[in-house]
Amino acid sequence: MTQTDLIARRERLLGPAYRLFYDEPAHFVRGEGVWLYDAAGEAYLDVYNNVASLGHCHPRVVAVITQQVNTLNTHTRYLHETILDCAETLLATLPDHIDRVMFTCSGSEANDLAVRIAEAYTGRTGIIVTELAYHGVTHAVSQMSPSLGEGVVRGPHIFTVPSPLSFAPEDRAAGFAQAMDEVIARMTRAGFPPALFICDTLFSSDGVISDPAGFLKPAVERVQAAGGLFVADEVQAGFGRTGEAMWGFQRHGLNPDLVSMGKPMGNGHPVAGVAMRAELIEQFGKKSRYFNTFGGNPVSSAAALAVLNVIADEGLITNAREVGAYLKDGLHMLSDHSDHVGEVRGTGLFFGVDIVTDGKPDGDRARQIVNYLRQHKVLISATGPHGNVLKIRPPLVFRPEHVDRLLAVLSAAVSNS
Ligand code: PMP
Repeated sequence: MTQTDLIARRERLLGPAYRLFYDEPAHFVRGEGVWLYDAAGEAYLDVYNNVASLGHCHPRVVAVITQQVNTLNTHTRYLHETILDCAETLLATLPDHIDRVMFTCSGSEANDLAVRIAEAYTGRTGIIVTELAYHGVTHAVSQMSPSLGEGVVRGPHIFTVPSPLSFAPEDRAAGFAQAMDEVIARMTRAGFPPALFICDTLFSSDGVISDPAGFLKPAVERVQAAGGLFVADEVQAGFGRTGEAMWGFQRHGLNPDLVSMGKPMGNGHPVAGVAMRAELIEQFGKKSRYFNTFGGNPVSSAAALAVLNVIADEGLITNAREVGAYLKDGLHMLSDHSDHVGEVRGTGLFFGVDIVTDGKPDGDRARQIVNYLRQHKVLISATGPHGNVLKIRPPLVFRPEHVDRLLAVLSAAVSNS
């Protein structure tokens, strides 16, 4: 079947809401480490996939999943050790006050549950998100995801703060805190005092905003002082991505009330969860039960436990820091040498690079660059309000030689654009 036939078949069977990457969509049949392979055996460098964070088909994760699938797969209504081993190992990576965890199948479900818990605890429904946030696909969290565009009807209880990118780095902490004060006052007047503020601690869909570390703290403290909870959405920033710590909120010195996580948690196996202070789940659990058919099953728990162990055993946080610093230097060099490469933001192995023309965001040029890279077998994407921010987010096992290859092709793409 040709590429065109496959695309037509996909559209006929799956409909138009699923979108493909690239002008010439890619079709892979196998993955290993940082490489994806097409049917002809051509290798593509994966500089985008934060789900297979340990590298595609990591042998230790594949082995524990295979072994557990061959042994037993049930659910959380039977006793089983692996979910508890996984919970203990996971909670040990979080601050002491975060001492309970519940498992789901997706980041969306984790955020959805976080909202229910926060509503039950505070008795409020007001929610604060950033203006281009993405928190998932359920009815409740899609409303908290303005980056999905106009197709999503937003309830009157959802309020947005401007993206931290609206403030210059030196004013970011104070400006974002003041914007938070304003939204808290506005929503309280409207009868929706905040139950929670949720943000992706690397602001991926807002255009990747990492610095200065600590800038989030005053704004989060404003929410907590107003009786709202802070949910750190670690679906993007968690599991060592920032190269500085296991969790993105740690580099901002925050004390979250709830921490949601997903994507890399099973290195491709669908497992996610939300961790929290004990009193929050105690309050929720008194009134409601929670059963998620697949969430926390023995196979998913084994996968998540293996991921945590591999991150520690292979020193992947340190690798993200060191290789990330090398990559960041290279991106800065590119920016110094090209008028079309603007600000470089990010940390660890997650970068956003502004593509500009005459200093203005240029989404078309960014799209050309992304497609040029795909033609030259390097996979990245673009994000941000104007679609002009290159999103560079490789597996954490990325090595300096992979950085060299990325930078060589990126530099040629920029010159050709
Ligand atoms: N939160 C953030 C910050 C995300 O990036 C995503 C996924 N892109 C989600 C939540 C939703 O996760 P999932 O797709 O697993 O439901």
